Amino acid sequence: MALLSKWASKVSKFRSVVRERDKVRHRSSGWEAVRDAHLANSPACVACGGEHLLQVHHIVPFSTAPDLELEPSNLITLCMGEFDCHLKLGHGGSFRHYNPRVIAAAAEFREAELGRREALIKEARAWRLD
Ligand SMILES: [Zn+2]
Ligand SMILES: [Zn+2]
Repeated sequence: MALLSKWASKVSKFRSVVRERDKVRHRSSGWEAVRDAHLANSPACVACGGEHLLQVHHIVPFSTAPDLELEPSNLITLCMGEFDCHLKLGHGGSFRHYNPRVIAAAAEFREAELGRREALIKEARAWRLD
């Protein structure tokens, strides 16, 4: 079981990297520059503080608000490192959904003990929208 969940976690990390690469190919030509500028200003995961596998998350997703794609206030740095913060807190466990409370969840996650972190991941799943 532990092996299986390790494998599943590797698959979700890999998929998220492919997904980020596809964004560069299919989105506005301004995305790469906006993403890089955001990472320069916010170079660590807002949720766990990690610096590994950083991704720039849209708080309100492109599918819901394409006009906010390049809006700096709609972006937050999350990671796919140890805690899969992007997938779990930003999207409630599935990239088809998003967590409208990601800013508060990430801030609380940063300060929380492990037990509370696990609870926040569950809450993100309960709060997620399509
Ligand atoms: Zn993180
Ligand atoms: Zn995201």
